[in-house]
Amino acid sequence: MTASETAGSTTATDAEESLPVVELDNVEIVYDRHFLAVQGISMAAERGDIVALLGPNGAGKSTVLKMISGIGRSERGEVTRGSVFYNGDDVTNSGPNEMVDRGVTHILEGRRVFEDLTVEENLRCGLYRGGRRFRFDKEDYQIAFDYFPQLEEILNLKAGYASGGQQQMLVVARALIHRPELLLLDEPSLGLAPKLVQDIFETLVEINREEDITMIIADQNAKRTLEIADYGYVMENGQIELNDPADVLAEREEIKEFYLGTSGDTSRYEDIRHYKIRKRWT
Ligand code: ATP
Repeated sequence: MTASETAGSTTATDAEESLPVVELDNVEIVYDRHFLAVQGISMAAERGDIVALLGPNGAGKSTVLKMISGIGRSERGEVTRGSVFYNGDDVTNSGPNEMVDRGVTHILEGRRVFEDLTVEENLRCGLYRGGRRFRFDKEDYQIAFDYFPQLEEILNLKAGYASGGQQQMLVVARALIHRPELLLLDEPSLGLAPKLVQDIFETLVEINREEDITMIIADQNAKRTLEIADYGYVMENGQIELNDPADVLAEREEIKEFYLGTSGDTSRYEDIRHYKIRKRWT
C-alpha cells in the first residue's frame, strides 16, 4: 500500500499534493555489493521546494541523486536498506527509464553535452525518452529559450565550442524540455565564474517558481546554494550531519566556519571541524 492510499478521505490528487515529491527513509547504498557509500539517511523534497544537498568531496551527494534517478543502478549501486518513495510510491532500486517516465530528470556533474552535436541537436535530444523520440515541434524548445534566450543565438554552434556557462545553460535547457516534476542538479556551479553562477542560480529560482519544478541541488558552493534553497542537508562520510531550513542552516556556526568561511579562523580546518563535530555529539 502506498502512502497516498492510506490518506483516508482525501482524493488521490490532494493526497499526492501533500506528500513530498521524493522521500528517502533510512537509506543505505552499496556499490559493487560491498562498498558502503551511504548509510541510514532520511531526507525529503517537499513539492515546489529547492533542496540543497551539501558536503565535501566523497560525502555521498552524487550517490544519493543517482539512486533517486535510477542511474546508480548502471554503476552497480544498490539500495540495500531503507526505502525511496516518489509521490508516495515505493521506487526503491527502480531504473532510470521508470524514473524519467515518473517525471525525474537528472543533470549529471560535468556539463554532459554532446560536444560534436550543435546546440540545437543537443536540445532535440531532450525530446527522446525511453528510446522513443517525441514528435518534434518548435514549441517544445520555447521553454528553453524563455529561460535561456542566449541559446537561440548559438543554435548552430557545436556544443563542444560553447563556453562553460553556455554549456551549463544548455544542459538545464535540455532538461527543461522533458518538463520534469523533479530536477536533480549535480554541481551546477562547478568551474563557473561567480557572475555566471549567480545568473544560473537566479534562473533556477525563476524556473522553480514559474514551472513549479521541485529541485535538489548538490553543490560545493554552500553559500549560493543555501541562498536559493528552502531546505538544506549537509552530508559527511555517507551520512547526514545537519539538516534545517536553508536560512537557519546558513546561520549555524559549523556552516559558517566550514562551508561559508565567514566566521573565525579556518586555517586549521580539520582541527576545527573535528572539534565541532565532537562538541555537537557530547
Ligand atoms: P563529489 O562532490 O566529489 O562528487 P560526492 O559527495 O558526490 O562527492 P559520491 O560521488 O557520491 O560523493 O561518492 C561517495 C562515495 O562513493 C565515495 O567514497 C566514492 O569513492 C564512492 N563511489 C562513487 N561512485 C562510485 C562507483 N560508481 N563505484 C564505487 N564507488 C563509488
